[in-house]
Amino acid sequence: MSSTWNGNFSYKAMHTRPSPVREILAVIKKPGMISFAGGMPAPEVFPVNEFYESAHLLKDNGTELLQYGTTDGNPALREFLINFMEPRLGRKVGMDQIFLTTGSQQALDLFSWAMLDPGDVIITEDPSYMAAMTVFMNHGGVCRGIPCDGDGLQVEKVPALIESLRAEGKKVKFLYTIVNFQNPGGMTMGVEKRKKLAAIAEEYDIGIFEDDPYGYVRYEGDHLPSIFSFDKVGNVLYAGSFSKILAPGTRTGWVIGDPAIVRKMCVFKQSTDLCSSSVDQALIAEYCQKGHLVRHLPKIIDNYRRRRDSMEESMKRHLAPLGVTWVKPQGGFFYWINVPGVNTDELMKRALDKKVAFIQGSAFAVEPGACTNNARLNYTYCSPEVIEEGIARIAAAIQEMKAE
Ligand code: PMP
Repeated sequence: MSSTWNGNFSYKAMHTRPSPVREILAVIKKPGMISFAGGMPAPEVFPVNEFYESAHLLKDNGTELLQYGTTDGNPALREFLINFMEPRLGRKVGMDQIFLTTGSQQALDLFSWAMLDPGDVIITEDPSYMAAMTVFMNHGGVCRGIPCDGDGLQVEKVPALIESLRAEGKKVKFLYTIVNFQNPGGMTMGVEKRKKLAAIAEEYDIGIFEDDPYGYVRYEGDHLPSIFSFDKVGNVLYAGSFSKILAPGTRTGWVIGDPAIVRKMCVFKQSTDLCSSSVDQALIAEYCQKGHLVRHLPKIIDNYRRRRDSMEESMKRHLAPLGVTWVKPQGGFFYWINVPGVNTDELMKRALDKKVAFIQGSAFAVEPGACTNNARLNYTYCSPEVIEEGIARIAAAIQEMKAE
């Protein structure tokens, strides 16, 4: 007798796909494996001691910390974020415009609950962050991709796509964009494009989900104003996260937007998880209020800049002679490389045999069949010496394929 599950799965369960990144994370645990696959921070830069200092709160205020919190999250942390975010958002938002989530991944899910009916269309950069695409699809959304240039999404193509989708009777609900150091592409959207997108959202009456987990990890150049800062009507929802600037284990992110959408997402959060961890939020609030976050940022930026530069040098040495091309990212976690004439799904299998992992471009393709010569390489997790060895192994795998 077989169990009941397989025959009774929901339509959604039968159509959902496992995340290639999370699946690969299991493979990379093998001894000797070098991983450029996940988007993981370097464990060496976690501020263990400074974060531990906040643990005194458990003794001083344990009865409050260990209780359920409110759904919108710790007020002290929200107040800190309102001030911290002011330059990027161009204004100080109200407490009814911000709430805390279990990572920004949950923000994507709550937003989808609030916005998507089956068949609704989401416009995205192509390629894009696959775990966002999966959330949208879990909610019945259909993603349509627009290619990117060196300064981000080809924004000028957005109006025509909305119009043609509307002519087909489709509902375009929102545009999803990773404005800074895009995942996987590494590029950053220019200021004029940001302004234009805010204007398009107003003119075409659509929302924008501005996903910005990497924005504070900038190695050079000036920080750019958010799309949110150009929005006059409340159509832009901004999502931030502590995952890349503090630690992903805190599972804490934040959402800022018009009270109407914030309130709706909070109602879904009530039934999703009641509230995020009050312990995590209180410890982060204390850590931030003590000035640790602001002091920590330059440290991680310096550390990751060195790792990025080291990958740049290693790639110039080993990959450029093989015709591989890339654009140097000004921040964030990833290189997006192009390997002409080489299918990167196949390359990934060879690379895994040589004990080096990355994510093949096709995993990020929004429109089917795209990005087959691309790969995403993370540089924040491995040390410079390991990066050199990993890139040399990828070069050997490419050479092998080219020789056949
Ligand atoms: N958005 C993007 C673009 C990401 O790259 C990630 C994580 N890699 C997330 C959202 C989710 O991050 P978290 O839930 O850890 O905040």
